[in-house]
Amino acid sequence: MRYLVLSDIHSNLAAFEAVLADAGQFDMVWCLGDVIGYGPQPNECVERLRALPHICVAGNHDLAAVGELDISAFNPDALRACLWTRKELVPTTWEFIQDLPERLVEGDFTIVHGSPRYPVWEYISHHSVALANFSHFDTTYCLVGHTHVPAIYRLGDSPTFCDSVTLPMNEPVPLGEERLLINPGGVGQPRDGDPGASYIILDMESATIEHRRVAYPVTETQSLMLSLGLPRRLAARLSIGW
Ligand code: ZN
Repeated sequence: MRYLVLSDIHSNLAAFEAVLADAGQFDMVWCLGDVIGYGPQPNECVERLRALPHICVAGNHDLAAVGELDISAFNPDALRACLWTRKELVPTTWEFIQDLPERLVEGDFTIVHGSPRYPVWEYISHHSVALANFSHFDTTYCLVGHTHVPAIYRLGDSPTFCDSVTLPMNEPVPLGEERLLINPGGVGQPRDGDPGASYIILDMESATIEHRRVAYPVTETQSLMLSLGLPRRLAARLSIGW
């Protein structure tokens, strides 16, 4: 089986389509949440995902859009985009989002949006946070999103040490047997300085992982956002991958 692992589509259909076109053959999409929020095409993104063989967990922006998460901590732009998204959602999208689980286990992979410790909210953006999370899942690997930054944390021989691994681009590498926390980066709003959509291919036949990046027509998404009245800053950040 070949899995397309992606996260944080954030209503950016142009970025999602670019990933699907670039990924080649795959058997299933593993989506790590935040399908919607921020971007201009929430219903279209959900519809596109639903049409594919997939599994998906809930992200904070997904739950916020359907009123299942307190949004008082959102910054003003995120809040505006969230309220816009909420009124755009058609019933089928609403139901899809409401039914998303917070955590899934598939074979040797635990799948969450934020972290296995706090699936919806916690950002794993530092070794210390990664290390504290290894005791919160039983599988060898855990897939997370939420930060919009690709990263892999590896548990060391001693349970008090973990380091990070940088994958070469576009090159399958053996998954290995060490315990890993794997973040594929973001599709619809990358935040690591590269505006291209980031994702991972997991090939279980060859037991390899491959990090990929694909450029998409950013201006297409930006024009749509501006014409729909979404915050300018949210459109602008897509150009610089922040
Ligand atoms: Zn997100």
